[in-house]
Amino acid sequence: MTIQNELLKYWREVHRRYGYEEIKTPVILNRKLWETSGHWDHYKDNMYFTKIDDADYAVKPMNCPGSILVYKSRPHSYRELPLHLAELGLVHRHEKSGVLHGLFRVRNFTQDDAHIFMTKEQIESEIQKTIDLFDEVYKTFGLTYKAELSTRPEDSMGSDEVWEVATNALQKALDNRGLEYVINEGDGAFYGPKIDFHLKDSIGRTWQCGTIQLDMMLPEKFEMEYIGEDGARHRPIMVHRVVYGSIERFIGILIENFAGAFPVWFAPVQIALLPITDKHSEYAKKLSERFFNLGFRAEVDDRSEKTGKKIRDSQVRKIPYTIVIGDKETETGILPIRKHGEKDGFEMSVEDFISYVQEKISSRDLKY
Ligand code: ZN
Repeated sequence: MTIQNELLKYWREVHRRYGYEEIKTPVILNRKLWETSGHWDHYKDNMYFTKIDDADYAVKPMNCPGSILVYKSRPHSYRELPLHLAELGLVHRHEKSGVLHGLFRVRNFTQDDAHIFMTKEQIESEIQKTIDLFDEVYKTFGLTYKAELSTRPEDSMGSDEVWEVATNALQKALDNRGLEYVINEGDGAFYGPKIDFHLKDSIGRTWQCGTIQLDMMLPEKFEMEYIGEDGARHRPIMVHRVVYGSIERFIGILIENFAGAFPVWFAPVQIALLPITDKHSEYAKKLSERFFNLGFRAEVDDRSEKTGKKIRDSQVRKIPYTIVIGDKETETGILPIRKHGEKDGFEMSVEDFISYVQEKISSRDLKY
């Protein structure tokens, strides 16, 4: 939960900066909505249902229809576009029990979803900005990535013109960024082209994560509109995009990538304080309280175990900083800091250590 909260805090910071508004829509929605979206006919096997006052309802497997309801709650002018509606949406999908797999394939997960509603002319710059956002997020975790562009399949909807504009815009946005990408001809959804992002972890494995999917179908089905500069009604273009993908799955990828030795900013425990004997516990607890008030996550290991064992346990738990507290530390306030994975420690005053950790957290440094 600590990791998830830190990831979401970061996500909100980034999305706010990129002009997204956050929304929240219900988990259970009426059958009519799912019939309009097409999920009732095409996605039923993966959905959960319930009845409320004799009417059929479904638990949402995707956030899009809810987001469209928000869009449709009032009229829109071209001046408001592009409109970015972000939602950390809890979705449920019925997967067969045999395919469930750790944090990677689950039945209940949170998508860091967002829908962008825009004019045809805005596609290129919006995709460009979305790629910038993805790039920034993946770099923060030290993950490199490759992109794949999937183009129009034979059986598809929408006009040739819009497909061409959309596909060119996606490709141009990738080119402008100088990204390495492959093109999967004809592999797009029948309602629009898309870009997938495949992350590469520290030992070379790849994971599919983010997607930018253009959609010409749902705006049509839900009769979405905006009033153009010409005073007439137009259909917006819709983009679905997730950067983490599923939060649970992304945490799974981070666990694999860092082998549990997380960067300070999202490590569940950042500092282990190890008093040598009971008489050093009081000072360790005082320090821990001070760290707590600064927002750090510190733990005091006051078990009556040998110091060597406590150090080993702290290393096994991959806690970024381990500090042994004895007579000298209690008297001088100079702390011996030992970083995870390093044999030799270094000394720092309490004040210097506090600024050191604060800097690591605020810059989201990957190194200890
Ligand atoms: Zn969507």
